[in-house]
Amino acid sequence: MFEVAVPILMYHEVSPRPHSAFSRYTVTVREFTRQMRWLATFGYGTIDMDSLVRARMGQGSLPDRPVLITFDDGFQGCADYAVPVLRAHGFTAIFYLVAGLMGKTSRWILPELGLELPLMSWDSVRRLASSGFQCGAHTLTHPRLARLPPDRCRTELVDARRQLEDGIGGPIHHLAYPFGDYDETVRALAAEAGYVSACSTRKGLSGAADDQLALHRVPVYGHDSLLDFGCRLRTGLTVRESVRFRLGRMAARFHTSPKVGS
Ligand SMILES: [Zn+2]
Repeated sequence: MFEVAVPILMYHEVSPRPHSAFSRYTVTVREFTRQMRWLATFGYGTIDMDSLVRARMGQGSLPDRPVLITFDDGFQGCADYAVPVLRAHGFTAIFYLVAGLMGKTSRWILPELGLELPLMSWDSVRRLASSGFQCGAHTLTHPRLARLPPDRCRTELVDARRQLEDGIGGPIHHLAYPFGDYDETVRALAAEAGYVSACSTRKGLSGAADDQLALHRVPVYGHDSLLDFGCRLRTGLTVRESVRFRLGRMAARFHTSPKVGS
């Protein structure tokens, strides 16, 4: 029986010099190194998405403290700076790639943030895959899938999978929805396209009741402290969010408890 609640960490960019407009989504190399050291120190074992799916089906076992590390978008910075740190600890991770923009730039953030960042090339990704890291799909062009007509949504999902399988030379079973944007139609099309799992950006640990085609994740942001990171691993929340949540629950209990003499 699958009983653990797994933190599926969601990273985007890792860089020694975060761009100010993208600092929320960029963890510095120094912080990333400290976070990975935290995982090692506290006995966390990294798993890949296949292991999680198998465990959810009652097959195979997980480490005592499982954690799944995901990177959205396939930024080159992750290959350059995060992968060596992961390797040093013997950790694995999954990289969700934008199949139609390999070796190009993250043009989808340009209108909002005024910058584009380099994305991994096919060669980079093949090197990752051959050294044991897992790759998943993040569509063809990084659109908001729920806003697309079903035919275009289907193309984004089906063609991304096919192009990644051709480019990497192995099966692609896992998906992350760009912007976490999905609805029932998108979810059904993801299943039809053959994806076994899909990550959303809904915040929280992933337990047995989690929807395998809209898995919860735990975001890691550039402004998180190391203590926040530790708190997120256990609750999905930063220290401040966790305190606020507990206080809110206590206040709700106080207001609903029966009053003496009434
Ligand atoms: Zn993305």
